[in-house]
Amino acid sequence: MAPLDMKPNELESYWVPFTANRAFKKRPRLFAGAKGLHYFKPDGTKVIDATSGLFCVNAGHCCEPIVAAIREMAGKLDYAPAFQYGHPKVFELASRLALLAPGDLEYAFFSNSGSEAVDTALKIALGYHKARGEGARTRFIGRERGYHGIGFGGISVGGMVANRKQFGNMLTGVDHLSATYDRAKQAFTKGEPEWGAHLADELLRLINLHDASTIAAVIVEPVAGSTGVLPPPRGYLQKLREITARHGILLIFDEVITGFGRLGTCFAAERYGVEPDMITFAKGVTNAAVPMAGVLTSKAVYGAFMTGPEHMVELFHGYTYSGHPLAAAAGVATLDVYKEEGLFERAAKLEAPFADAMMSLKGAPNVEDIRTVGLLAGIDLAPLAGKPGLRGYQATERMYHDLNIYARVAQDTLVVAPPLIATEKDVGEIRDVIAKVLTAVA
Ligand code: PLP
Repeated sequence: MAPLDMKPNELESYWVPFTANRAFKKRPRLFAGAKGLHYFKPDGTKVIDATSGLFCVNAGHCCEPIVAAIREMAGKLDYAPAFQYGHPKVFELASRLALLAPGDLEYAFFSNSGSEAVDTALKIALGYHKARGEGARTRFIGRERGYHGIGFGGISVGGMVANRKQFGNMLTGVDHLSATYDRAKQAFTKGEPEWGAHLADELLRLINLHDASTIAAVIVEPVAGSTGVLPPPRGYLQKLREITARHGILLIFDEVITGFGRLGTCFAAERYGVEPDMITFAKGVTNAAVPMAGVLTSKAVYGAFMTGPEHMVELFHGYTYSGHPLAAAAGVATLDVYKEEGLFERAAKLEAPFADAMMSLKGAPNVEDIRTVGLLAGIDLAPLAGKPGLRGYQATERMYHDLNIYARVAQDTLVVAPPLIATEKDVGEIRDVIAKVLTAVA
């Protein structure tokens, strides 16, 4: 063993997630600081953050009131046991979330990541049906091109091939709806495309195949985010709600990206006027300053568990860090910032100019489609012949090393999602730098 006071700081030991490690370590991309709309490289160079970190820093980086709340809690209560005990801040946060949630989604179960939130929601769905005497409902329906994190539950219901193919059979008894995207029918659409609501009827086909009595839940992202921004066709989510309700199937909206203002409302459920039975959330709940995520459930779902002797645990599930004091403090402070700065309303106002700015990139080299909704945009680039993902990777390198912008790249799609504090001028700047990126990788 090396002496404890040895302080190496090399690139090799860290296995970087969802990253081409060998290429990265030859030419790393590091951020050493952040403020507002910007990151700073270790040498101090300012980099505009066009994807809010990973769709999570909605109120901008190192937001003072959030930082202060975390500092205060760190000095007051570092940790309280999550099982059989609690602390005041986490109850405050749950109550605040219950007020923000649509309909009667008034109960919050906390986890630390979106992936854990998804696994939690799937487990709650199973437990719910079992508690009501319908234990044969064990099947889940996800959607192709869906992303629900990287737990075994999430990759099973998810539909991103690369995230699934390395990992064997995953959960059994899972089926998938088709993705809602068809370029020929909807290229360069702002907002929700007119085409595609009929794809929700596929759920009826799956119900005919498996029988509703075997299906526990349908899980979808209201807007598929990580696959490159696929807004739902008009009427699609409403149809899913109607069919699931009619067949006693729970509907779970995975709002890990769409939650907390990304679409101009607190949750996408509100934008679309659809009330699911559960919402998974993460990211924006704490402005990403401390990891936190969770599931909001309806009264009926929570209520189904509240039977049996009162001293008995009702749901055998939870995490050491469920509702961690630092995360809860960050969460409450974040909700205050959203409210005081009117950030959801700001996002709603910025949607149209943002869509115009992004759509003006139509005609730039290799741009095959652009989709926008709320403050989210996906810009599809033509892949290099026989090398899918290489143009996207080149964009990642050029953005960091040459153009001082950060944007998430999914395969050959650039994903833009600025913090909700962005102004029209900031959006214009992001658009102009992205135009340079497109030329740089032409
Ligand atoms: N669900 C959705 C819709 C997501 O976009 C993500 C992450 O981007 C997750 C789940 C997983 O969240 P996490 O990376 O916090 O596990």
